[in-house]
Amino acid sequence: MQLFIEGEWVDALDGVVRKIRCPADGSFVRSVADAGPRDAARAISSARASFASRVWADRPERERGALLLRVADLIDRDVAAYSMAESLDTGKRLVEAEYDMADIAACFRYYGAMAGEGIGRVVDTGRPDALSRITVSPVGVCALITPWNYPLLQASWKVAPALLAGNSFVIKPSELTPSTTMMLMDTLSEAGLPAGVANLVTGTGAGVGATLTSHPDVDLVSFTGGLTTGRSVMAAAAATVKRVALELGGKNPNIVFADSDYETAIDHALTAVFLHSGQVCSAGTRLIVEESLHDRFVADLADRASRIRLGGPFDDNAETGTLISGAHREKVAAYVAAGIAEGAVLVTGGSAPAEERFADGFFYLPTILDGCTATMSVITDESFGPVLTVETFRTEAEAISIANDTIYGLAGAVFTTDSGKAQRVAEALRHGTVWINDYHPYLPQAEWGGFGQSGNGRELGQAGLAEYREIKHVFHNIDPKPPHWFGGSPAGSTDVAGG
Ligand code: NAD
Repeated sequence: MQLFIEGEWVDALDGVVRKIRCPADGSFVRSVADAGPRDAARAISSARASFASRVWADRPERERGALLLRVADLIDRDVAAYSMAESLDTGKRLVEAEYDMADIAACFRYYGAMAGEGIGRVVDTGRPDALSRITVSPVGVCALITPWNYPLLQASWKVAPALLAGNSFVIKPSELTPSTTMMLMDTLSEAGLPAGVANLVTGTGAGVGATLTSHPDVDLVSFTGGLTTGRSVMAAAAATVKRVALELGGKNPNIVFADSDYETAIDHALTAVFLHSGQVCSAGTRLIVEESLHDRFVADLADRASRIRLGGPFDDNAETGTLISGAHREKVAAYVAAGIAEGAVLVTGGSAPAEERFADGFFYLPTILDGCTATMSVITDESFGPVLTVETFRTEAEAISIANDTIYGLAGAVFTTDSGKAQRVAEALRHGTVWINDYHPYLPQAEWGGFGQSGNGRELGQAGLAEYREIKHVFHNIDPKPPHWFGGSPAGSTDVAGG
C-alpha cells in the first residue's frame, strides 16, 4: 500500500486499497494503494526537486549508462522473482514472463552501452569568427504511464532512455499490474540511483494519471495504452504544452500471398494473433489472405486454433493464458457478437471455454471470424483479444489497400516467397514495423512506434532516446564586435547581426 517517493516507500495520503488478483484463477496477489491526486503531486515534487538539484542530470553520461548496465545485471539475478510477479499480475505463462525479463535486461543493456555516443555535434557557421554546436539536455520531469499487457517491458522502454538522458521521473503502472514496476524501484536504488530521481505512484487514470498528465511541473508525458486514453492524455497535456509521446493500439494486417511457404505462413498467422491471447498491441489480428489460398488456409488455421491449449501461468501444458479481467473479456465477446451480427462467419471459438477448471479465470477461446469486411467494428476497432478476422484479396494492390485501410498503423506482415513483391508491399504499408516472412520480432536497437493514430514519437533505438532529450544550439562569437544595427552607429559602419 505504499508509493515510492524521494527514494523511500511511503504510505499514500489519498485513495483506497486495491487487491490485485491473478486473472487466471482469482488468487490474491497483493494489496496496493489506489492513490490520489495529492500523492501524484508529491511524487512530481520529488522528481522536480531531484532534477533541480542536478544530482543525476549532471552525472557524466557514461556513469548513467553504467548504472543501467548494473540494473540489467540485477534483473538477470532476480529473474525468477520478477517473472513470478509478472505472471501472477497478468496471468501470462511463466515462460513468457521469463522471455519478457530477458528483453527487459536487453533494453537496459542497449541504452547503457549507448552512453557517451554521439552527444551533440559541431555546426559549420560559415564564419571564421564564430563557433556553433548542438548540445543535448534532459527534458526534465517525465511522467511515464504504462499498460497491463507487458508491464515491465513497457516500463523499461521508457525508464532506460529517460535515465540515460538524465531525467527524473514519476512512473504510474497500470492499476491492474503494478508489482514488477514496484520491484524495479528497489532495483534502481540498489544499482545506485540517487533518491528522488525515480518515483512511483500506483492508482487509476482518474486517481493519479490525470494529475501526471496536466501538472505544470511535468515536462514530458510518455504514455502507452489505448487510443481513447491517449487522446485524453494529449488533451490534458496541451494546457502546459508538454512533450507527449504516445504508443497506442493497432489493427495489424497480416498479408498472406498464395506463393508463401504454407507451413511458415500458417504457423506465424497463429502466433501473430494468439500469442498472449491477442493482448499484444502489434498482434496480427487481420488476416488478409489471397483468395485462391483462402479455403485451405482458413480450414487449417481453424483446426489448429481449436487445439490451442489454454492454462494458467504455471501449467506446463498450456500454450496461452487468460485475458486480464472480466470486463476485458466482456469487451472481446461484444466485438465478436457485433462481427457476427454484421455478417461475419464464426469459424471457431467465440466463447469462454466450458471446462470447470477455467471457471475462476477470464479465459476466452481462440476465435476466427471469416468473411469480414472493412466497415465491421471487429475490423476497425481493437478488441485486444484472441480474435482473428479474415479478409481476402486478388491483387497485390488490393492487399495493400485493405492493409492500409485503418486509422491505426502500428505493425504488419507480409508472407511471400517473391522477395521483390515482399519489398514493394513493405514499402507501401503505412505501419511503423513491417515483418517479411516473420511476425513479432523486435529489437531494442530498432525504433518502435506507430503511423496514424497508433501514436506519435518512437520508443527504442536512437529515436527512443531522442524523445527524452532537449536540443540546444550554442552559438559562440569568438571575435565579438558591436553589430551597429540601430541608430547611433559610427558613420560608415555596415555590420549587422543575423538572426
Ligand atoms: P489504457 O489506455 O486503459 O491504460 C493505460 C494506462 O493509462 C494505465 O496505466 C491507466 O491507468 C492509465 N490511464 C487511464 N486513464 C488515464 C488518464 N485519463 N490519464 C492518464 N492515464 C490514464 O490501456 P490498457 O488497457 O492498460 O492497455 C492496452 C492498450 O495498450 C491497448 O490499446 C494496446 O494496443 C496498447 N499498447 C500499445 C503498445 C505500443 O507499443 N503501441 C504496447 C502495449 C500496449
